Parts: sequence; C-alpha cells; structure tokens
Amino acid sequence: MSEPTSGETKTPLSIGSLTRDPRILLVDDDPLILESLRRLIEAQRYDVVTAGSGKEALGAVDKKQFDAILLDLNMPDMSGIDVLTSLQERGVETPVIVVSGDSAIDSAVNALRHGATDFIRKPYKPEELLRRISNTLNKQRLEKENNQIQQRLQQSEKWHRFLVNTSPDFIYTLDSEGRFTFVNDRVETLLEYKREELIGRHYSEIVYEEDIFRADHVFNERRSDTRATRNVELRLKCNPGNCRPRAMNGRFRTVEVTATGMYERQEIRFETRFMGTYGVVKDISDRKQAEETVHYQTYHDLLTGLPNRAKFRDYLGRALVHAKRNSQTLSIMILDLDNFRVINDSLGHGVGDELLIHVAARLRQCIKDDDILARLGGDEFALLMPDVSSRLESTVVGHKVVEELNVPIRIKGHELYVTASVGASFAPEDGAVADTLIRQTEIAMYQAKSQGGCRLQFWQPAMQEAFAGRIQIETDLRRALANDEFVLFYQPQVDTVSGAIKGFEALIRWWHPDRGLVLPNAFVPIAEETGIIVPIGEWVLREAAAQQAVWRKNGLPPVRVSVNISPRQLETPDFVGSVMRALEANQLEPGSIELEITENVLMRDVESNAAKLTQLAEAGVLLAIDDFGTGYSSLKYLSRFPINTLKIDRAFVKSPEREGMPIVNAIVGMGRNLNLNVIAEGVENIAQLEQLRVLMCSEAQGYLFGMPMSALEATKLLEEQVHGQEEEIKAG
Ligand code: C2E
Ligand code: MG
Ligand code: MG
Repeated sequence: MSEPTSGETKTPLSIGSLTRDPRILLVDDDPLILESLRRLIEAQRYDVVTAGSGKEALGAVDKKQFDAILLDLNMPDMSGIDVLTSLQERGVETPVIVVSGDSAIDSAVNALRHGATDFIRKPYKPEELLRRISNTLNKQRLEKENNQIQQRLQQSEKWHRFLVNTSPDFIYTLDSEGRFTFVNDRVETLLEYKREELIGRHYSEIVYEEDIFRADHVFNERRSDTRATRNVELRLKCNPGNCRPRAMNGRFRTVEVTATGMYERQEIRFETRFMGTYGVVKDISDRKQAEETVHYQTYHDLLTGLPNRAKFRDYLGRALVHAKRNSQTLSIMILDLDNFRVINDSLGHGVGDELLIHVAARLRQCIKDDDILARLGGDEFALLMPDVSSRLESTVVGHKVVEELNVPIRIKGHELYVTASVGASFAPEDGAVADTLIRQTEIAMYQAKSQGGCRLQFWQPAMQEAFAGRIQIETDLRRALANDEFVLFYQPQVDTVSGAIKGFEALIRWWHPDRGLVLPNAFVPIAEETGIIVPIGEWVLREAAAQQAVWRKNGLPPVRVSVNISPRQLETPDFVGSVMRALEANQLEPGSIELEITENVLMRDVESNAAKLTQLAEAGVLLAIDDFGTGYSSLKYLSRFPINTLKIDRAFVKSPEREGMPIVNAIVGMGRNLNLNVIAEGVENIAQLEQLRVLMCSEAQGYLFGMPMSALEATKLLEEQVHGQEEEIKAG
C-alpha cells in the first residue's frame, strides 16, 4: 500500500498488488473543451478517456472502471443529473466531480444530492481543477484503505471469537466482584449451563463446596505476572437444573484452572485499574478417572478385589500409630498356601484363580468386620486385627484359619486339599514398625512351612538369624550355577553278598567361595522353594550322564548311576525332554540311569507326574523310590508307578542289635513280591550288613562301603573292582 500523500501530488492507485495510473473519464458535449481538458489532465500522468455525451459516458463506464469522472451538467442528449442517476442505478461508486457553467447554488446542491462528490464551477483555473481531481482521488483511496482495515478488523474479531468459542477449554472473565462477564461456548458441554445463564452469577455458585476455599484464591486472582494462578485443581458443579434430582447429588467435573488479573490502563500515567479476572478451565475428569483406576490397581489385587501388599502396609502403619496413641495391641498374620503351586500347575490357572477367591472368602469368615484381609501376592494372604488384646486371642484366630482352610474346596468337579502355613506376630511386643513386623511375620510363616505346613507359628527373635542365612544362600545360589560352583560326588551301591559295585548315587556338593564345601541339606530345600532347583537339577542330569558315558567308554564294569530328582523339577513340563536329551547327548542306553524320587512326590498324586514317569519308564529309564518308609509307603502307588527300586531310609537300618530291623524285613518282603530291587541306605557297620544279608536285602549303600566321593575316586574304585575280578579269575 502506498504512503498517504498530501493533496497536491498525484499518486498511483493500487488495486490488489497491481499499481496503475488513476483512470479518469471526461464527459462534455463541447469537443473543444473536451480536448483541452484531456491535454491538461493527461499531462499529469492520468490515464484519460473522453465521452462527448451522457450516453457515451455510460457506455464507457460499463466497459471500464474509473477512479474519477469529470461530468458536465449541461449536455443536450442527457443532462448531467440524468447521468448521475443512471450511475447510481448501475451501482457505480466512482466519485463524480460535476462541472457546470451554472452559477446558481441550486444546481450544485441538486448534483450533490444525486451522488456527485464535488462541484466545480466554470470558469475555473486549471490548477484548481487539478487540485480537486487530486483531492477526490486521495479521498477515495483513503476510504478504500479504511474499508479494508475495517474488514480485516471484523475478520480478526470473528476469528478470535471463533477461537475462544471452539476452545476445548472453558474460558471466562469475571468482574472485580467475581461475577461472570463472559463465558465461552464450552461451558455448555462442560457444566451444562447456557452461556447467558451464567453471565452475572457469582463464581461460587459453580464451585464444589469442599473446594471453595481453594477456589476463592483462584477466582480472585489479581496477579497478572508469572506468579498468577496456574493449573490449580478444583471441582466444578454441573448445572443441577439439568439432571433428575437424585442424579444431581455430587455431579461435578474435575478441572484445572489458570487465572490472571485484568487491568485497564488509566489516563493518569502509570496507573491501572483492576477490572476482574480472566481464566481458562481445563477439563481433567477423564485423566482423573484414569488416575483413580491406576490408583485402585496400585493398591488392590484385581483377582480378589482385596487390598494388596502396599495397601496392607499402609493400613498396618496407621494401625500401629493408632495402637501406640491408645496403648493398644494388635496382631497380624501372613499365610501361604502349602500346595497351591501344584494345583495351579496341574489343573490350570483358571482353577487356581477360583481357588484363591474361595480361600479369600473363607479367610473373611475367620475375622471380624473391622479386621483387614489383604492378598500380598501369589498365594500369600495377610490379616490385620487392630484390636486383639492378647497373644492368646490371636492364637485362637490363627488356629481357626488353619482349620478352616484344612477343609477341602470343590472347584469344577475337583476336590482340592489346600492347607496353609500361618505366621503371626503381636505388636508392639514383637515390633512396632510396619515393615519389620511384616518381614518377621513372613519369617514365622516360612518357619511354619518348613515344619511341614498346615500350622500356626508365632514370630520368635531366634528365627531372625536362621532366616538371614537363608537369604544369603538364596542370593549365592543364583550365582553358583553360572560360576560352576557345583560338583557331583558318587556313593557306591553294592551287592550285599558279593560286595560288587552295582551302582553309584550322584550326590551334589556346592563349593561355596567363602564357606567351602556345602552339603545338599543346607541348600537343596531353598533351591527347591525358589525354583532354582530346576536348572540345577538339569545340570546334575547332564553331569551324571556325562560321567556315566566316560566310565562306559573306558570299558569299566557297567553300573547304574542314580540321580536325585526334586519334586519341582519333575513338575516342569519339559522334564521328560531334559532326561532324554541328557541320555542322547552322551549316547547312553536309558537303563544306565536311575531316577530317585521321594515317596511324597508320588503321594501328591499329580496326574501329569504319573504320565511323565510312565513315559520315561517305557523308554527304559529306571525309577527308584528314595527314603522309602518315611511317608505313607502305600502299596497303592507302588502298583501305579513303574518302579524298579526301593531305597529303604537309613532310619530303619539304624540299630539291628535291639530291634532286628522289622521294617526292613517287611519292605524286603514287599519288594520281593513286587519283583523290585531293594537297597538299604545308611549302612555303617558290619552288624547292619549281616542283618541285611539275613533278611536277603540285595543291595546296600553307606559309609561302610564308601563315603560319597569325587568322580576320580569313584573311577579308581571301579578300576580296583576290575582288578580284583581279574585276580580272582587268575587265582581261580
Ligand atoms: P538321599 O538321596 O537320601 O541321599 C543319601 C544321603 O545319605 C546322602 O546325604 C549321603 O551322604 C547320606 N549317607 C550315605 N551313607 C550314609 C551313612 O552311612 N550314614 C549317614 N548318616 N548318612 C549316609 P547328602 O549327600 O548330604 O544328601 C542329602 C540329600 O540331599 C539326599 O538324600 C537327597 O535327597 C538330596 N540331594 C543330594 N543330591 C541331590 C541332587 O543332585 N538333586 C536333588 N534334588 N537332591 C539331592
Ligand atoms: Mg537319593
Ligand atoms: Mg535317601
């Protein structure tokens, strides 16, 4: 756009981005005047068109757009007034300067009334005419520019209104008294008020009562700098008139408000007047809802809907504070199901989940309404009894829990026997800090479990040390396999009559970097509980098979190698595969390896276990029952499982002098009837051996024949046996 110029100078007109010389139409019936005017005006770099009559003039206007028209009033065909009228009818807005010889003021007024913009009387001075033309053009240009600005302003205001009204946020202004002076459309969907309903109302009418104190700070915000209110969380009430009366209670939206003071600049310098506040309200209800769901999930167990470990800890912390303040006592219990894993693994997670829900329901029945029941994870539950006044009272509840869970639960046609190991503690006597109390109660629970489960055990300070050791072992075990810290020892199993070695039992040892040689009783139960026994057991299988392969390759007398299998290992889905792979990798025939399984593994009566053992037996792998006689020793499973060997627990081999080994006698008899090989364990002296010979127990194992020894020593023993046989043959 060109700079505004003073009246005298002619300026090119801008039309859009194009700039051209102003175009002027000269209308006069006198050809001489017309010609002289044209010359005068053209000299000013105006673009000139001439018309000798009114008709001609209208014809020119129809064809082209002019920036100004110089019109003679007195023309024979059409008067200037007629031309003005026609121009108006055509909607032509080009400014018209009327030129007339008429000196009467009437004709000037008449012309102006008919739309002329200026009037100049003949005779005129050429400069005067040029000045008038220039003025008219300037005036027109300014008008045009003004219009454009006006239009742009309107557009921009529309635009702003659009932005404000389509904003996803509720935008408002308040007067200095806190009454709404403006609200945007968003309020209609957010709070269900019509815009006009809110204007003039006080903000407090839409604030949720409990939040009013905080809201007062926000809605009365006077600061307008960076310290002004930003993202303050509040609840705003929805229009109560819009809902059924019952639904209206408590209907609100959670929002975040950002507010700032509005000021008007005063005439007096440096002074401003507070006009009210301006604010933006962001709806965060959805986010809030999501946060609440996450919060619920963080503090609750989704399966049972019970509080979880974090929430339990929270409850306990508060209960301890309360108890201390009121000199009261409380008790907590933590319980773990003894055989849940077996059920879960064998019957599937669906049954497992249902079982946990049943257990939760039973536990609820054991406690009072005010007591807290939580699920700490897996099959671990916790009870908090905030007003138990004595250890005895807590003991009664604990026994009730143990008994209540000892009753079988029926799920999907299965009769499930679950029992619980319950640890308990009594506060503040046993401890007054939530975490300590929970840890101690868990230790007591482990203690109950290690004593066979299905019992209640109170925390005792002496448990602490044992437990700390246990934790250390757990940590070390995780490293041991990777660090190659395990080794297998071999203990011979001999023929009671000939003394020939029939087999070796592989027994694991742990070369602990700090503690030296660690025997299996100190770590196998922990490895079993934590599941680390599975990879360890697989290593034992591979190692024992490899050793057996070496003996076979070196032409030593063929002996069995027996390997102890832990229950957890047997329950892994790939158990059969892991045994077969160990055999195949070493090109061994299956009968060269015997698997030792304890009685209680068979007693668990898990369908899949029986299937796996049958599959292995069919492949030719030998099976032995270890520690026989310590469990139920039921004939039922002896007939169900494809067993080769019974290993009589050393407890029954102890003292033949006094009792004469009646149990060994019975077991040997049973074995003979079932055509089983029988091995007596723990044979330490000749007296025991003689008694076993009398009872016709075919094999024996014990310190008398050899301690568990390294592979090297076992190899020597085998070599000696070959040597001995050769000597015998020579002597023979
Ligand atoms: P087990 O299978 O009953 O092994 C026999 C245990 O009796 C061995 O103890 C052995 O050293 C010990 N023993 C042998 N002869 C005599 C004797 O004349 N008198 C006495 N008092 N004891 C004797 P060890 O090696 O300490 O193993 C203990 C238990 O650890 C084993 O009992 C077995 O259940 C388990 N175990 C050992 N190695 C493994 C393994 O590789 N995997 C698994 N899962 N368990 C293993
Ligand atoms: Mg064994
Ligand atoms: Mg044994």
